[in-house]
Amino acid sequence: MIESSITRDVLLRKATIAIAGESPRLDAELLLSYVTGLSRTSFRAWPERQVTATEARRFEALVEQRANGHPVAHLLGEQEFWSLPLKVNASTLIPRPDTECLVEVALVLPLPDNAQVLDLGTGTGAIALALASERHHWQVLACDAVASAVELATENARRLGLPVTVVLSHWFDNLPAGRFDLIVSNPPYIASGDHHLGEGDVRFEPASALVAGGDGLDDIRAIVATSADWLNAGGWLVVEHGFDQGDAVRALFGQAGLVAVETRKDYGNRDRLTLG
Ligand code: GLN
Repeated sequence: MIESSITRDVLLRKATIAIAGESPRLDAELLLSYVTGLSRTSFRAWPERQVTATEARRFEALVEQRANGHPVAHLLGEQEFWSLPLKVNASTLIPRPDTECLVEVALVLPLPDNAQVLDLGTGTGAIALALASERHHWQVLACDAVASAVELATENARRLGLPVTVVLSHWFDNLPAGRFDLIVSNPPYIASGDHHLGEGDVRFEPASALVAGGDGLDDIRAIVATSADWLNAGGWLVVEHGFDQGDAVRALFGQAGLVAVETRKDYGNRDRLTLG
């Protein structure tokens, strides 16, 4: 192996400065770990080890992309959700830790052992796969309106060996006939003019996974309005939404004849999901 005579420590320091942003050191370590195949702890234990010239070049190319705003998940092609390594690409939302709150809530609902479950707008398959990984007797169906997302979620299910079926359907439009005990969704819920759309990772994620009309509620409105027709008696709907949409979403549940039981907070203590 040709040594580049540059140490891990020097490389990581330079990268941390170049990346800036919210978590530059962590980002740099994740990228170096990806390139070298070594754990982040090993960089701390042996900072003076040298990296090969090839590794240094590959790492610096990734650092440059990260400095230009590309999400770490896209550069690694992978994001962990509920401890599951999920493949990600630019056709779907990158799974967020806050969406794990939705999984936590769904897992403690009073549901039958062999519950029929539907994940609307599954993207990478994150929620559906997390649920299937915890409840082996649940029948989990996932759908997405974007063909490349259906492919990605199917691929994630296959790699993880989890029995989730993924179909192409815009919300309920093309679902096979059936009823569910649990419907979950993390739909798009950002308002079209929201300034967040110009910041951070969302700049590199598809609008189809993020934006839902002038008030951000178009998709939640559509989902809530139709859910009652697809739920078994005593079934549950759990939807993720924006921190300031709790009142509006509970009202939508009411209009659809669903009893909104409560709105729950995310890890940042902001309203994030409503169940009923
Ligand atoms: N919570 C995500 C964000 O803030 C948006 C997710 C969504 O629209 N479903 O970037």
